[in-house]
Amino acid sequence: MAAIIASMDESTSRNAALAVRDLRVNWHPCTQMREHDARLPMIPIVRGEGAWLIDADGKRYLDGISSWWSNLFGYANPRIAAAIAEQARTLNHVMFAGFTHEPAIRLAEELVRIAPAGLERVFFAGDGASAVEIALKMSFHYWHNTGRRERTRFVSLANAYHGETLGALSVSDLPLYRAVYAPLLLQPIVAPSPDWLDGEPGESAEDVALRRLQDMRAILERHAHEACAVIVEPLVQCSGGMRMHSPVYLSGLRKLCDEYEVHLIADEIAVGFGRTGTMFACEQGNITPDFLCLSKGLTGGALALSAVLTTNRVYEAFLGDYAANNAFLHSHTFGGNPIACAAALASLAIFREEPVLARNRALAAHLARRIALLREHPHVAGVRQTGLIAAMDLVADKATRTPFPGAERRGLRFYLHGLRNGMLLRPLGDTVYFLPPYCITESDIDRMVDVAIEGIGEATR
Ligand SMILES: *Cc1c(COP(=O)(O)O)cnc(C)c1O
Repeated sequence: MAAIIASMDESTSRNAALAVRDLRVNWHPCTQMREHDARLPMIPIVRGEGAWLIDADGKRYLDGISSWWSNLFGYANPRIAAAIAEQARTLNHVMFAGFTHEPAIRLAEELVRIAPAGLERVFFAGDGASAVEIALKMSFHYWHNTGRRERTRFVSLANAYHGETLGALSVSDLPLYRAVYAPLLLQPIVAPSPDWLDGEPGESAEDVALRRLQDMRAILERHAHEACAVIVEPLVQCSGGMRMHSPVYLSGLRKLCDEYEVHLIADEIAVGFGRTGTMFACEQGNITPDFLCLSKGLTGGALALSAVLTTNRVYEAFLGDYAANNAFLHSHTFGGNPIACAAALASLAIFREEPVLARNRALAAHLARRIALLREHPHVAGVRQTGLIAAMDLVADKATRTPFPGAERRGLRFYLHGLRNGMLLRPLGDTVYFLPPYCITESDIDRMVDVAIEGIGEATR
């Protein structure tokens, strides 16, 4: 009987049939593949509409995390889709050395126009980690070209995440991703994170930021002579558990970098393009970094594309005689791809023509009201929000913020509860967070939070 039901499921479920084929040939990111044997479902998605994903059996999932923080204006957004189709029919690709095209020109002009003042040069690449590699190499190479060849190190923050290629992983601080590869990596100088959850009792977010700036000053005092740059994720360390800090940290850090003459690299790959309430998180600290890394939301989440913006001062240090060999000879085949640039232009046109930031702030206020309830939950601690990112930690003991033993996989239980109820919310360990696409409605936010409250109840029981 059981065998008959199982074979009926096989033949009637397109999900099951696709999952079986997938697991024979694909190796998925960020996954212990063994878990797909039983506890972790593999869900084949055939279509997306607005904030919703639809699987091969027709089940719908509301995406509360924007497909890893990339989807801004909805799946299969008609405007972005039309721009992609039009560009694909006109010029799908051309090498970007010696050749250029209008989508890359217009996109670079537009990025320079909207970025913090002083960022006037754009270098395109394909994904976030490549953008971080480029910023690190450009910074090092700038000091090399300007005669400061003893500068070979980077200052990064505790709990940082900048991607998973070897350079980007070097300046990341999450043991889950980094520990195994440590023997292969650069050794950064790690400064304490300004994360306000780490504060002493009674300290405000600003107090924590100011104290951490003192720590940074001590580090730069000792290490500035050998440091190329400080790299930060402005306002929110996303992969590091949605840890947030005061904008005071950014303005103070800019001053310290100027004082000690090291570059400031802002990795806004996750927080750029309106996520924190302003177009770029750096705006809230009123700063211009020396390098700004962008990706995820750059194309509205439609295609892989990244960009590093920098100053003319940096750019000019790479000019000279060919024989002097001080050009930035770094390339990615598909950097600045015209179809990806066309998608990004369509996404930025939506920002120009619709009141996206005002609407995001209204959605963020609505989300804040809805999650307020969770502050009282006996197994929820550290409820926090910056713009359209809200997060909280599932804890065994609220008073002491003692986590559940990792082996209990509480966050996984929460994830599975969401999927059963048509909701994509994928916690980072036991940190539950909401990072919805900007096209989500208030009633879908209500639904998302309701499912999350039930899921938290189930996961912490
Ligand atoms: C996702 C992310 C990256 C890496 O981007 P990929 O496109 O996944 O390589 C780097 N930095 C931050 C802050 C990110 O969130």
